[in-house]
Amino acid sequence: MNAKNLTRNILLGMTLGAIVGTVINLVGPDKPGLALFVNDIFPLVGKIFVRSLQLLVVPLVLLSLICGTSALDDVRRLGRIGVKTLAFYLSTTAVAITIAIVLAVVFKPGAGLQLDYQSDFGVTESPPLSEVILNIFPSNPFAAMAEGNMLQVIVFAILFGLAATLAGAPGKRVLAMANDLNEIVMKLVMLLMLAAPFGVFALVARTFAHEGFSAIMALSKYFFLVLGALALHTFVTYALIFKTCTGLSVRQLFYNLRKVQLFAFSTASSNATIPVNLENAEHRLGVKPAVASFTIPLGATINMDGTAIMQGVATVFIAQALGVDIGLQGYLMVVVTATLASIGTAGVPGVGLVMLAMVFQQVGLPVAAIGVIYGVDRLLDMARTAVNVTGDAVISVIIARGENEFDQQVFEKRE
Ligand code: ASP
Repeated sequence: MNAKNLTRNILLGMTLGAIVGTVINLVGPDKPGLALFVNDIFPLVGKIFVRSLQLLVVPLVLLSLICGTSALDDVRRLGRIGVKTLAFYLSTTAVAITIAIVLAVVFKPGAGLQLDYQSDFGVTESPPLSEVILNIFPSNPFAAMAEGNMLQVIVFAILFGLAATLAGAPGKRVLAMANDLNEIVMKLVMLLMLAAPFGVFALVARTFAHEGFSAIMALSKYFFLVLGALALHTFVTYALIFKTCTGLSVRQLFYNLRKVQLFAFSTASSNATIPVNLENAEHRLGVKPAVASFTIPLGATINMDGTAIMQGVATVFIAQALGVDIGLQGYLMVVVTATLASIGTAGVPGVGLVMLAMVFQQVGLPVAAIGVIYGVDRLLDMARTAVNVTGDAVISVIIARGENEFDQQVFEKRE
């Protein structure tokens, strides 16, 4: 199957999933014959699919980053790429959350709402900043891999790649082997994608069967404001930054990104989308492995603009509904906390709410109030994850172009 057919089939799987899920929701997901699908078959197929994606994340990040680091001939260049990438990731996240806060202050989604937040959303302890920083440094590479701690895996892979480059002949032999292994894992990614339409169908059908329109309608202002802010950030902020920094076609960018966005939307996990985003960055966006192998996994862990947008809107929304004025200082606190919180948390479903708890604690809002938006969060999680991975890919292209690690022919090829 060629790439175009595959993307079309994934889209088909998603659309059918949304239709089937919505119909089941309307008919009643608890009806005997349907419950089997909603509670057993869809989740099973969906989980198998996500697990298979996750299976590839650690080997792929490790191998591609070792190869990528060794392809960058000098350490200073690696440092420069690192600093630039971090600066882009953090500043776009700050812009994202600012947009969200401004929109929420202007449109007042929470004004006049009566909140009843007898919720079961437990209070989450936020780790101190020092612990977040310490957590970047691995003490045991195998433990980091076993736990799927991506920041630690990234640090280890870079150090290993650097040492292998400096080690002369033995290094060369190991790197040649790592390159071969990397090819094999990439092949596995492509094979797995053949099953994606079914996996995507099951994931989307299940979510839509559970999350009915009634939940959305009750919180419609909040829900659509988050979606609006996500769209604005994607199609205006990213488009502008991309055009300004690269001069390339924005249309082509989004065209080349469809598959990754569909994956992120269906799985609601930036982490599980790493294999697809990495493959796509190299084969469709023209980002050379030396840059993509670093920027994509790092972005999946620390760059979450979509999540930051949800947090901005949610904070203002709850504050308005409770009649609390958190003031300009409070808003600034939200920007800083949400941006920093995104660094230490992995890209998996629902983690945005946990980070939101940290933000609420900082500005003194009751964490239990998060329960109010819990009901619509899965759908928003899907949308914001698509934005999260878009940011990783867009910035990867910008960095690659600035570093001469970009292949324009690949980017402009229409498939
Ligand atoms: N699911 C999101 C991601 O993986 C994180 C979140 O907002 O919950 O990027």
